[in-house]
Amino acid sequence: MNSEKGTKYIFVTGGVISGLGKGIACASIGYILKARGLRVNIQKFDPYINVDPGTMSPYQHGEVYVLDDGAETDLDLGHYERFIDIDMKKENNTTTGQVYYEVIKRERKGDYLGATVQVIPHITDEIKRRIRNISQSRKYDVVITEVGGTVGDIESLPFLEAIRQFCLEVGHGNFLNIHLTLVPYIETSGEIKTKPTQHSVMKLREIGIQPDILLCRSKYPLTDEVKSKIALFCNVSKGAVINALDVDTIYEIPLMFDRQGLGDLILERLHLSAKESQFEDLTLFVKKIRNPSDEVTICICGKYTQLRDAYKSIIESFTHAGVANDCRVNLKWVEAEDVEGFSDPEGILGDVDGLLVPGGFGERGIEGKIKAIKFVRERGIPFFGICLGLQCAVIEFARNVCGLKEANSTEFDEDTPNPVIDLMEEQKRIVEKGGTMRLGAYTAVLSKGTKTFELYGKRNISERHRHRYEVNNKYLDILTQNGLVVAGVNKELNLVEVIELRDHPWFIACQFHPEFKSRIGKPHPLFRGFVRAALEYKRAKGE
Ligand code: GLN
Repeated sequence: MNSEKGTKYIFVTGGVISGLGKGIACASIGYILKARGLRVNIQKFDPYINVDPGTMSPYQHGEVYVLDDGAETDLDLGHYERFIDIDMKKENNTTTGQVYYEVIKRERKGDYLGATVQVIPHITDEIKRRIRNISQSRKYDVVITEVGGTVGDIESLPFLEAIRQFCLEVGHGNFLNIHLTLVPYIETSGEIKTKPTQHSVMKLREIGIQPDILLCRSKYPLTDEVKSKIALFCNVSKGAVINALDVDTIYEIPLMFDRQGLGDLILERLHLSAKESQFEDLTLFVKKIRNPSDEVTICICGKYTQLRDAYKSIIESFTHAGVANDCRVNLKWVEAEDVEGFSDPEGILGDVDGLLVPGGFGERGIEGKIKAIKFVRERGIPFFGICLGLQCAVIEFARNVCGLKEANSTEFDEDTPNPVIDLMEEQKRIVEKGGTMRLGAYTAVLSKGTKTFELYGKRNISERHRHRYEVNNKYLDILTQNGLVVAGVNKELNLVEVIELRDHPWFIACQFHPEFKSRIGKPHPLFRGFVRAALEYKRAKGE
């Protein structure tokens, strides 16, 4: 049987340990196939019970990646969007929670009357429906499905079982199983070990899945001999053992895979014909990452700086914006709470060329962020605020420029006499926490004559949101009279979207999250402008 409407399916699983870069591997495979002219989409299955990661702490989960349609998703979707440059949708991220929720709703409706509802077939059927669903509205040549977690986890079993059944149904030539494993190097004996890979593949085969291609992550290049050994023990051909070597930039990965013939191998196994690959742009992009003409140092002052995954999209946005400015962006991570203890942040911020205050929730570290913003505002150092960063900038300006000494957000002080940041009216009635923020794409209109308008080069923009609090319009008069400029507004909801400062070389903050829209070769205008401003500041300082 041929698979539905010609769509081919690639499943990517991970073995040995988590954190091997399965998301980036999927994004890279997607990139390779797209570079050959194929229509590709990628989805992720996450085996946890939360309906989405929106209710998890960044320490548990890393960044929550927000889509245009308002879905709060896994950060791997960020890699997918950045690499294959398409807008993902809610259905691109399925969790165990969503699968069970759906099945239980149907059971209550009576859809299964008379039956005992079980993992097989009811849960696995729902998973299989979701594998296909991605290609329903728009037909894709290839749908890549990443299974979160590590083979051997109890949680991912229903997903793997569903994949086993699915492959049987669509038949050979219509699916591929790719397994990412670790091939460790033991320093003391100077040996490369293949056993963990063998065991992981054994586990997969126990479940009934035989990998077709192995992506072997390693610190040093795998020799021919090692590749042969892996091939023999894991029952794959030697050409299907691809070395996923540690690299200095993730954007090298599609190139590295393709040099080893991964693109041709996938096409051959899936009986797909496609044009020759186009990698000139990516090759140039990687070259620019590696050989910039200049560099700047940007401080990121946040609350989860110990965990870089919490700021994944911001980091990648800086890489993209750095390339556009022919400049390396060094990131200096500062815990907001650490700034609080300093009477003068000079020691922490004196040497940086720009400050970014990213999004965040809760009171911890707020005063440190406000102190850091005051410092860069007074010194004329470029500042970029995102979401909570905008809210902190408004609080700082209200307190220290407008003289509203106790100005605050009602998120941190419910009884503040000057709630310059406050909950939107409709948010006040909401009690449930999951999926109830102002989420996803909203339009904004930019004012001519502002830096923001200049950077975007257009008046109407659309950006992604994830927040509950807003600039309180009651304070707009006093803020603007003192030099704050409202550069962008949402007309329908009458909300402030972007602010700037009149008397500052580059001070821009936005209520939305621009980091979710930066892609390879398409840096976000605000990040690009911020890096350029930091470069100008550095050059002026050096003169
Ligand atoms: N905590 C703030 C709010 O809910 C900011 C959220 C954010 O930075 N994403 O409005």
